[in-house]
Amino acid sequence: MGFEYLGLSEGLLSVVEKSGYTEPTPIQKQAIPGILQGLDILGIAQTGTGKTASFTLPMIDILSEGRARARMPRSLILEPTRELATQVSESFEKYGANSKLTMALLIGGVAFADQEKKLDRGVDVLIATPGRLMDHMERGKVMLNGVEILVVDEADRMLDMGFIPDVEKICKAMPQKIQSLFFSATMPKEIKQLTDQFLKNPREIQVSAPASTAKTISQFLCIIKGGEKEKRIALRHLLDTQDIKNAIIFCNRKSVVKVVSKSLSVHGYSVGELHGDMQQSIRTETLAKFKNDEIQFLVASDVAARGLDIPDVSHVFNFEIPNNPEDYVHRIGRTGRAGREGKSFTLSSPAEKKYLNFLTKFLGKDIPLYEIPSLGAKAKDIVAEKLPSPAAKEPRKKKAVAKAIEPQKTEPQKTEEKEKNDKPTTQRQGNTAVIGMGDHVPAFLLRDDTVKSKE
Ligand code: ADP
Ligand code: MG
Repeated sequence: MGFEYLGLSEGLLSVVEKSGYTEPTPIQKQAIPGILQGLDILGIAQTGTGKTASFTLPMIDILSEGRARARMPRSLILEPTRELATQVSESFEKYGANSKLTMALLIGGVAFADQEKKLDRGVDVLIATPGRLMDHMERGKVMLNGVEILVVDEADRMLDMGFIPDVEKICKAMPQKIQSLFFSATMPKEIKQLTDQFLKNPREIQVSAPASTAKTISQFLCIIKGGEKEKRIALRHLLDTQDIKNAIIFCNRKSVVKVVSKSLSVHGYSVGELHGDMQQSIRTETLAKFKNDEIQFLVASDVAARGLDIPDVSHVFNFEIPNNPEDYVHRIGRTGRAGREGKSFTLSSPAEKKYLNFLTKFLGKDIPLYEIPSLGAKAKDIVAEKLPSPAAKEPRKKKAVAKAIEPQKTEPQKTEEKEKNDKPTTQRQGNTAVIGMGDHVPAFLLRDDTVKSKE
């Protein structure tokens, strides 16, 4: 079934056709007619399933009638990050090419004079991150009483980033009779509470089980004996031997992002990095270079990369097992998008075994092993519980977390070393501790000059 049966206008259909989409994705098929009918929507679909067009397309048709008044946007789209907000605005620009819709972006890190001027003149679509919007509301720069449609996109990501209280305040500042559309890849209870409160009799669309991974992704697990240095060698081996168009390499922390990207660049790879410490302009520039194939590999943290629409990633590498299994789903969701084939490789050191167990429990299945010659430990090294892993000898850290995840079977030996180290990771080394490495944080990782020389 094509787009022509969804109730979109002729003008819009021709733009869609030009953009190369021939078939609506399942979420688009189900959401677009409902939105055009004025229903509230709760759309739960994994990353990469085309949620953006599922709300931008019908909104363009709905908003094509009527006029915006000064400082009173007619629709509001909340996005958790600047990058996502920018992408949605690009989507409006692309599909709205034949319409006269006006739009403003309220996101951190960019100059506001222009956006405020636009707001003053009146906009049909306001795209904002919650914090920045609250700022403007408090200063009387924007009023929400003219909003007809509210979109809360990537709701689970909002939760991760601590935006839910802001989102709730914003929802409460809305007129009673608005149409509300919520989209999320997963449905944690906090989001459920929010949607119970603010959605009116919503049409609930669930495209696949929450937090399931796309079927077009082949996933592999590489067990790496050793620590980060060995992982970097293994990563280079994979980059050299796999047929890679482009790839995102995920790390858990920005300090590791920096080390890995520096190391790859020293070894002559075409690489850029993306993490929360970077200036917005540089983030945007890096992302643009990656999209234009000027950079082949992007080393990124979760916060910086979640939800980014980079259509053609052939590979995803997890340099570390994510501490939060749902992040795994989001990470590998960067490949295999919209039906394309993709591959993901996850590197795990013995010290991360706990997180690996947690992840496979969450996925409900093992990730197939991929052996890296001479580097990858044999499967039995991790599968056989009897073999002591380096981590087991080290004092445990993050015990509270470990307990919450699964009961600890063996009590680590109480030694003086343990007493010293048995504090929360983050306090032990300032912010240099490496999450997911057990207690063994190799000294080289705690230095700033780690990769000045080739290893
Ligand atoms: P989500 O928000 O669900 O993570 P996006 O809206 O960012 O997903 O879309 C993911 C990718 O799929 C984008 O590259 C987008 O251009 C592409 N896409 C969306 N809808 C279609 C479609 N109907 N046909 C082909 N590709 C599509
Ligand atoms: Mg999205």
